[in-house]
Amino acid sequence: MEIKLLDIKRQYESIKQEVEKNVIEVLSSGQYIMGKNVERLEQTFSEYIGVEYAISVANGTDALVLALTALGVKEGDEVITSPFTFFSTAESISRVGATPVFVDIEENTFNMNAKLIEEKITSKTKAIIPVHIFGYPCDMDIINKIAKKYNLFVVEDACQAIGAIYKGKKVGSISDIACFSFFPTKNLGCAGDGGMVTTKNNIIAEKIMALRNHGSGEIGRKVANCINMGQDNKILEGYEKYYHYLIGYNSRLDEIQAAILNVKIKYLDEWNEKRREIAKEYNKKLYMYHPTKVDTDIKPVYHMYVLKMKDRNKVINRLKSCGITCGVYYPVPLHMQNVYSNLQYKYGELPIAEKVSNLVIALPIFPELTKEEQDYIIKHVIEE
Ligand SMILES: *Cc1c(COP(=O)(O)O)cnc(C)c1O
Repeated sequence: MEIKLLDIKRQYESIKQEVEKNVIEVLSSGQYIMGKNVERLEQTFSEYIGVEYAISVANGTDALVLALTALGVKEGDEVITSPFTFFSTAESISRVGATPVFVDIEENTFNMNAKLIEEKITSKTKAIIPVHIFGYPCDMDIINKIAKKYNLFVVEDACQAIGAIYKGKKVGSISDIACFSFFPTKNLGCAGDGGMVTTKNNIIAEKIMALRNHGSGEIGRKVANCINMGQDNKILEGYEKYYHYLIGYNSRLDEIQAAILNVKIKYLDEWNEKRREIAKEYNKKLYMYHPTKVDTDIKPVYHMYVLKMKDRNKVINRLKSCGITCGVYYPVPLHMQNVYSNLQYKYGELPIAEKVSNLVIALPIFPELTKEEQDYIIKHVIEE
């Protein structure tokens, strides 16, 4: 039996007609950048997460870069985050000129260990980026409390956790600003790149809106606070977008991607529920390799289902020979990445992240995985 880690074509088949209808409408409309599909998605998304503002951007990495920029994080600043995440969490910190400071993780949830944050705070620390890794929410109460005590911003990296719930709240609504990705393999994926920033703060929201679109037009002017500057009193009507007030980015979500996401977001809760059912079955049979006890006030979304196994390579090869594709997230923690050798971390400094990176195996988990396929996977994981 052939089972991929993620079979996105199956999901497409289930919503093909609706998606194709929406995409063709965009194609024939001639409106491809910023239009009614983007507007509608932002509206739906903000209601779904439970925040005032959702601002779409070109991808999840840009969401992080724009968020940090909007908060004023810059060269000389430090940002605390997890070493056990996709590279772009740290990359975005470096991209704005700041330094990532890595905190070790909890062995069972794989999330940054909130109890270890405080000892890493210095006079340069500006923000904390908790990453809800594999769709499991971080301990936001503790993180927010520390942030408040030291006057730091909190930016949730919710790229893997759309729809996850922490104490009655959706992730993405529990901090100053949150970032999402619509990369095709994410729980809500488009047919290319896409991202979203959410916030309750109107000043932050306006900054993101200005930054994503070259700092131009009415929003750029408002954010830069340029009343009556230069040629402003003679703005050519209808050409506002060619008046620039900030150095921004070209980081917009396009209409075709928004049209696809407008269909898919309707099914997101149902799909996440399927993932939880599959995880429940894995939990029952494979608890010895996945000891995470889910707190009653937490609802993860299982972007990945990750086991820790001593003979990782042996297991991966055995599963491969049975047609099952596994993933390894992540084989190298970020403090040990070549690109960060300048940060001078030593092996042994973040022992849990280092240890689990040698043990992790991600099993296929996606809403369309059948019971028969799951039984087949479990059988071949257990067999020694
Ligand atoms: C996918 C992902 C990102 C980046 O998203 P892109 O859309 O690929 O740029 C950032 N952080 C985490 C944790 C991710 O999983």
